[in-house]
Parts: sequence; structure tokens; C-alpha cells
Amino acid sequence: MPESRAGPVIFAAGILMPVSSPPLQDGAVLVRAGRIAAVGDLADVGRENPDVEVRFFPNYTMIPGAVNAHAHLGFRRKDAPEGGTFSGWLGRLIERLPEKEAWTAQAARDCAREAIEAGTTYMAESSPYGECLPQLADSGMAGTVYAEFFAHEIGTPEEAVEFIVAKARELGEDLPERVDARVSVHSPYTVDPESSRLAARRTREMGWTLAIHLSESPEEVEFVRDGTGGLADIFGTNEWGGAGISPVRYAQGIELLAPETIAAHLATGVSEDDIEVLAQTGVAVAHCPRSNDFLGCGVSPVPAMIASGIRVGMGTDGLWSSPSMNLFEETLFAVKLHGMSGAAGLELATLGGARSLGIEAETGTLDVGKWADLALVETSPEDGDTALGVLEAAAGGGVAATVVGGNVIYNRLGR
Ligand SMILES: [Zn+2]
Repeated sequence: MPESRAGPVIFAAGILMPVSSPPLQDGAVLVRAGRIAAVGDLADVGRENPDVEVRFFPNYTMIPGAVNAHAHLGFRRKDAPEGGTFSGWLGRLIERLPEKEAWTAQAARDCAREAIEAGTTYMAESSPYGECLPQLADSGMAGTVYAEFFAHEIGTPEEAVEFIVAKARELGEDLPERVDARVSVHSPYTVDPESSRLAARRTREMGWTLAIHLSESPEEVEFVRDGTGGLADIFGTNEWGGAGISPVRYAQGIELLAPETIAAHLATGVSEDDIEVLAQTGVAVAHCPRSNDFLGCGVSPVPAMIASGIRVGMGTDGLWSSPSMNLFEETLFAVKLHGMSGAAGLELATLGGARSLGIEAETGTLDVGKWADLALVETSPEDGDTALGVLEAAAGGGVAATVVGGNVIYNRLGR
């Protein structure tokens, strides 16, 4: 369990990277009641708050915690199905759902721990009917669990949406302050258009965000356009397959695209027209490049989406399609894939995720008024440190402490 939120404290480091402003040498944040009350030079913050305990880490860099915009906690690394094709992988995953029940909870605990030890402070997790909520809530991270529903298992579209909204409300009772439960429309090939439309309308009316998977694989593009291919083989020729349009256009037609929606992947078959639709509807994107690579899903046109003003965050996806729950490692992969700067990568992993989830007023940078969500990364100021160096260190196991809302939830420094 996390250390309880005590009185005010000053966290300081050799380098402070607020992300919203240039790095500071010997920078400090004053934390009161879990939130950042001041940011600046350690000398100034210390002088103005002489009675507050100072925890200074001269050989570390302090950055905002990672905001994981799309993850699944309930998988384990050791027995992932083979990658290669998306429909082949999904078919094997579905076959193994019954055996998976026995270990999903333990996997979720382990994955949450792995994410925390890699500096994650906020996670948007999607799991069937919200099954991984208890483990996220116990972990000490802040986050949202999106309860995925599969309408055909429940009844009519109205009954299915009523059920999942009630489920999310029930899951949302008695949770820690910064953990909540919402709804996910799993994908265009698993949820029928009417249930999708109703779920989007209902959740939007309540001011809830909504998670979806969209335009992830070549098979999804084929299914939506032609009603054929690997996904049609698994799910049957559903009446809504073969719409003759792209998954993005299809999702727009059933009202899934809006500023409240976080669409994961957008990896395959995203055209310039699709990017325009995404930008106009204001939908946010969670980029999961390592999962896309593993499942033969191509490369998401992230630079073009960012240039169009689309909010993009990073997601690890789950351990059956991705090698780790380390969002900084995921981001370093994206930086190399798209030729981005380290600063752009660090922003994607933190503020970008917060923006995509609509929580940028609460977290994502080290600024006064936000929650004290931060990570300490083992780097040496003498190294002529850059954002890329910090990202590489955080990707490679260099996170030494993780703080969520002022609570130290991971600390291998022993002080
Ligand atoms: Zn996913």
C-alpha cells in the first residue's frame, strides 16, 4: 500500500523537467495535500517554506509520471500467443479465455506493479466488464477502468447498454479518490452499430469519456469494408460488416467519434480523409506502436495526426501483444519509429496522455495546482542531460521512485 499522504513535503532533484516549461537545475516542487503548491529553484522554494521537509535527489531527474492512455492489465508475459497476424492472435486469445480466468487477477496485480516501477502514475485500463478494476484501485495509481461490453452476450442493444452503464456505476462506488469506472465499446467487429451508438450517446450525456479500439488491423479494415477476412471467420458474417467504408468513417457514422472518445491504435488504413474526420470530430488517439508491430498492424500516422491538431497519447496495450507495461519504453519506440525529438516523446508520454483523456488540468506536467504525479529517473546532471537521455533512462529501468498525488508508491532509494 502507498505511504499515506502526510504533511507538506518538498521533492527536489538535480534536474526538474516540468514538460510545460524548460528544465531547471536543482529544481523543486512543494506538495501540499497531494497537489503541487509551488515549482521553482530548490533554494527559493526551500527558503520560502523553511519548516517543510526536503527530499532532495541530486543525481536524479524529476519528470511528470507517465500517463498510459490505453492498457490492459489482465495478461501475463510468459505465455503470450504468437504474433504475426491480428486475427490469428485474436483467435488464440479467445480460445484461451476460459483458462485465463484462473490467473487474470494475479496478472493484473503484476502488470500494475510493473507499470508503477516504470514511473506510471495514471492508467486508462480496458478489461471485459471492468474485471481489472480491483487491481488498479489497489495499486496506488490513479486511473480509469473502461468496462468493455460485448452486446451479443447480453440482449437487445438497449438492454446491453443499460447493463454496462449500470455495471460501470456499480464499479464506481467506493473507489479511491482518483480512480473511476467508465464504458468501452470494444471494437467495430465485436459490438453491433446500434449498441455502439446508444453507448456513445448515453455515456456522453453523462459527461463520461469512452474508450474504443479503432482501425487497428488490416483484418478490421477488410471486415468493415467488405465483411470478409480473418475477423469475419471468427465472428461470423455479422450484418454490419461490409459497410463499404473505412473503420474511421464507419465509427463516425455510428456516433462513436467525439472529444470524449479515446480511440486506441489507428494503425492500419488511416487515410488523409480519415485524419480529417478524426480532427474534425475532436476524438483523441492512443498510440500503441509495439503492439501494432507485434501483430502486423502497420504504422499509425502519428506525426500527421499531431500536425492536424489531434490529441495523441501513448498506450502500452497488454502483455499478450506488447513486451512490457513501461510507457516510457513504448514512447522511446515511437520516437525512433517516427523520428521525433526526445522532448516531443517526453511530452507524448505525459501531457499528451493527459490531454487525450481530458485530464490535463489535473496531471501530465509539473505545474502548480495539478496533482503531484511524478517520477524520479536515475540520470546524472553532469551528462549534459537531454529529454532523450531521460526517456532512454526511464525506458531502461532507470525509474527509482514514483509518486502519485504526493503518495510515494514506489521507492527503491530507501529514503
Ligand atoms: Zn487494446
